[in-house]
Amino acid sequence: MRISPMELAERAAALTAASSPCRTCPNACRAERTAGEFGRCRLGGGARVAGYGPHFGEEPPLVGRFGSGTVFLSACNLACLFCQNARISQDREGTDVTDSELAGIFLRIQEMRCHNLNLVTPTPHTAAIVRALRIARDAGFSLPIVWNCGGYESAEVLRHLDGIVDLYMPDLKYGNDAVARELSGVGDYVARSQAALLEMHRQVGDLMIDDDGVAQRGLLVRHLILPKGLAGTEEVMRFIVEEISRDTYVNVMGQYRPCHRASEIPSLRRRITKEELDDALERARSVGLHRLAPF
Ligand code: SF4
Repeated sequence: MRISPMELAERAAALTAASSPCRTCPNACRAERTAGEFGRCRLGGGARVAGYGPHFGEEPPLVGRFGSGTVFLSACNLACLFCQNARISQDREGTDVTDSELAGIFLRIQEMRCHNLNLVTPTPHTAAIVRALRIARDAGFSLPIVWNCGGYESAEVLRHLDGIVDLYMPDLKYGNDAVARELSGVGDYVARSQAALLEMHRQVGDLMIDDDGVAQRGLLVRHLILPKGLAGTEEVMRFIVEEISRDTYVNVMGQYRPCHRASEIPSLRRRITKEELDDALERARSVGLHRLAPF
């Protein structure tokens, strides 16, 4: 962590203030979360955890030898009809935890020798996470922090994470707002996610990997291919190469399967074809990206 304890305390206070009335994410519900009100994500003032532990299914630079120390946080600021974790993100499966309990989880991840702390769907939890990091840091916590989010972030809020987060791993889900509105319930995903990625890259730069193949710092983008080109892959890849960096690490994900409420949308009722995945990879290569997965 590259900021002083005093600065960390000030960031925690600023983020707590921004959560009530809540402007933590672009939904800007203005719910008084610290007074018990719920906004769109239906998360209160504290954090809620569905599970944690070493995870070996993430991208190899995060997994290394001992695994990525994943903390699955409940609730989400998006409402994707095809969510593959809907029980956690939409049904909020999990347990409410205090800041001290969350700090204890971070410390246990470190005791497990994981290479990093991988916070999954952290966005609505931002204030509680930074408060917990204050506590954990005082107790010796020092792992790199991974912000594993859906991309629908407030660039202003992200600025409070400068010097705290080491690895940003956002989804860049869509290149078209009409599709984002229909499938994820937000009408300004493209502009918000693009502004967020610019801020993330400003903070941490391109992905840096050490001699052991373990990620230390930087940006890693995930893009899930949807059937019938719904994800707008060409627009997404063009934005990355033209506005972020042609050295951006991009995981082009072909594992889409119909989940949650996907059956409501005829185009989403099937997996993608090999041709669709090959076409997405070719579009990424053709605009100049070269650090491409699937890993
Ligand atoms: S974090 Fe939740 S309550 Fe806050 S603005 Fe976003 S959706 Fe609304």
